[in-house]
Amino acid sequence: MTSTQPAPVLVLVPGAAGAPADGGPRFHLADADAPQLSVIDLVVTRGDGVFETIGAFDGTAVNVGPHLERLARSAAQLELPAPEQATIAEAVEAAITAHEAVAELSVRVMYTRGLEGGSAPTCWIHARVSDDWSAHREGIRVAALDRGLPTTAAQTSPWLLQGAKTLSYAVNMAAGREARRRGAADVLFVASDGYVLEGPTSTLLVRRGEEFLTTPVSAGVLPGTSVNTLFARLQAEGVTVREQLMTPAEVQGSDAAWLLSSTRLAAPITHLDDVELPVDSALTDRFGRILAGRD
Ligand code: PLP
Repeated sequence: MTSTQPAPVLVLVPGAAGAPADGGPRFHLADADAPQLSVIDLVVTRGDGVFETIGAFDGTAVNVGPHLERLARSAAQLELPAPEQATIAEAVEAAITAHEAVAELSVRVMYTRGLEGGSAPTCWIHARVSDDWSAHREGIRVAALDRGLPTTAAQTSPWLLQGAKTLSYAVNMAAGREARRRGAADVLFVASDGYVLEGPTSTLLVRRGEEFLTTPVSAGVLPGTSVNTLFARLQAEGVTVREQLMTPAEVQGSDAAWLLSSTRLAAPITHLDDVELPVDSALTDRFGRILAGRD
């Protein structure tokens, strides 16, 4: 069967943490269909690495700086060498330029501890046509699932790497499968002390009256680039935005709620478990345009 999708683009970045040892280029295009990764890379054997997923809309990547700053923060939490953000930003641009022009690209930046036995981090950029998120942008049923950790875990147990975007995402993917078994499209994790956290790949945004709320980063959630973008825009318009711990019942009683992320944009929550929430389609469309850099 021949694929009708434009081919993905791969850029290898041997200079992601400093000049490559072999004196070669800091980054270069490579064959996205050929095997490229060593079987003893610690990301393969241990899931030991960090990553970012950047959305590019009509050929323009959104929030590259904030994504690469978060990559650096995640790397620091794992005590990985600091990534050279300028080099990686250039490599991201090269990947987008090399890709056939499409409306929505998903650009992954992967940064691993490198080969077992010690080496420089392994880094690559993979750009591919985004999944079709149109149904999610209409509305999603969400299941509230226990994450088994309190909102204090980031402070008491930093080795659990709460708030880092690591390449150990098997738990996040398993939660998604559990949601689908329950007839939902996505998950809202709930801490063991009863407060909502985030989705496995998204940030919670809640509207209560004229206020917009999200989970505090101190509760161990990933600091989302999307929620930051929306908060900055809303705040500039004089709207109140803030971080607040909320229970599932408070989200169920809110005026609207969304799961936000860089490629899916704003997905309105139609139901949290069996409770229906109001959906504001016009506001959702506006949030989507802002997050795609189109407004
Ligand atoms: N929370 C988690 C756990 C994520 O994996 C993601 C993104 O994949 C997000 C939140 C949303 O982050 P962003 O808005 O920067 O894409």
